[in-house]
Amino acid sequence: MSNLVQKITAPNGVAYEQPLGLFINNKWTTSSNGQKIVSINPTTESEIVSVYAATEDDVDSAVRAARAAFESETWYGMDGTSRGQLMVKLADIVQRHEQVLATIEALDNGKPYSKALGDIEEVYNVLRYYAGWADKHYGQTIETSRAKFTYTIREPIGVCGQIVPWNYPIGMASWKLGPALACGNTIVIKASEQTPLSILYFANLVAEAGFPPGVLNIINGHGSEAGATLVQHPAVDKVAFTGSTATGKEIMKLASRTLKNITLETGGKSPLVIFDDAPLESAVKAAHFGVMGNMGQICTATSRVFVHEKIYDSFMDAFVAYVAKINIIGDPFDDNTSQGAQVSKQQFDKILAYVQAAKDEGATIVSGGAVADDRPNSKGYFIAPTVVGDVKPNMRVYREEIFGPFGVFVKFSDENEVIQMANDTDYGLAAAICTRDNARIHRVVPRLKVGMVSVNATNNSDFRVPFGGVKQSGIGRELGQAGLDAYSSMKAVLMNIT
Ligand code: NAD
Repeated sequence: MSNLVQKITAPNGVAYEQPLGLFINNKWTTSSNGQKIVSINPTTESEIVSVYAATEDDVDSAVRAARAAFESETWYGMDGTSRGQLMVKLADIVQRHEQVLATIEALDNGKPYSKALGDIEEVYNVLRYYAGWADKHYGQTIETSRAKFTYTIREPIGVCGQIVPWNYPIGMASWKLGPALACGNTIVIKASEQTPLSILYFANLVAEAGFPPGVLNIINGHGSEAGATLVQHPAVDKVAFTGSTATGKEIMKLASRTLKNITLETGGKSPLVIFDDAPLESAVKAAHFGVMGNMGQICTATSRVFVHEKIYDSFMDAFVAYVAKINIIGDPFDDNTSQGAQVSKQQFDKILAYVQAAKDEGATIVSGGAVADDRPNSKGYFIAPTVVGDVKPNMRVYREEIFGPFGVFVKFSDENEVIQMANDTDYGLAAAICTRDNARIHRVVPRLKVGMVSVNATNNSDFRVPFGGVKQSGIGRELGQAGLDAYSSMKAVLMNIT
């Protein structure tokens, strides 16, 4: 095998060729100084493979390739219908490769294979959805006066620098690639250091679908080097980022040097409010998905749960029993596993430090709060699902995003009080409420200072519906029709006709 690809056989028997290089101009290359990132399997703590990590020069090459493609007749001259057809082709190819892609996600991220299959389904659904938009994102004619013909045109923004996190490695990438391609932009996308593998396999599928060279360039690299170079490169017109709020602020600063168009999807500490009329069983299920879904590594995780004092005790008993039944820790390729490892040692240590902070600040560890004692082979970054009660608003575990299977539970007594508590955070990504009372739903939803509300559910998202936050949870929206606005600019034409 060359130094740009390595054969891998996963524990589920799936064998594939893992690309290792930088995908620039539809060609694989090493990094200019040979530097690499080691990808660790969080289930076993062992190395899967090392991939090339882009230097500043490599990022520059990728951006130049994207710029040249943007200005080429092949891409710029391609009509929306043809772009959409290419995207449908890519979606079909991704679907055909879903088992390999899901296998890579399970190996590299630690999530159960069965859930990773759902991530890949989302990727081809997003690509198909935006393929449909590629020839339907129009300008308008605007009546001004009889002496003028006035209209707007939707145009691609140009070269987009996209930076994605590790919680849904290929899923988060698709949210950015779909609308950007549909609008006719060209792209340099950088994956997270923790999960560099699936996007590289995807790159070969891009070439197979027939995208012209330079349209979609895919790199790995360190945030402080490759990421920072990308977001301030003068030839990049737009920056789209998903990741932590701290990095989002840094990116906003770097991108401001050339006043780039930016979209930021950042962190959250989302509230779930369970009113006393909520059906207990469904509220428990909603809270479970809100707290424990994807090992708690969801930006919209409802990790602050407010439970009405009348039902607090019965809810907590039912919740803890449900967690004990549902959270089956194990190897991601075992069909029974519902909870895999956290993505990295860094995240694992961070979550355990929050357990200590909760204890130090006087909260009660109701269950979990330790390394999972049933982890396979006594290895891997597995955390026992953690339920923390008696939490007060001044505690760190109440205010800070933990990103683990770690929920904090708080009692409340009335609607006005809980709305204030729910809004008492720097974040504003999502919120959820459980109640049977329709009037209450319509009273409470407008008062929640967030970008998205799930009712009688949690972590609801859908590729047809805008996704994003307010306050320090981000700027702009992804998904749905709104996602297209982030990747196109509107040109106004005012024509004298007399
Ligand atoms: P992170 O901010 O550490 O890293 C995200 C990406 O930014 C990585 O690719 C990293 O290499 C890059 N990066 C780091 N420093 C950079 C810099 N100076 N310049 C440019 N790029 C840089 O986040 P993470 O730990 O990978 O992901 C977890 C975070 O992502 C959580 O806070 C979570 O809430 C958030 N998230 C948000 C959403 C959303 O839609 N709002 C979705 C998923 C995850």
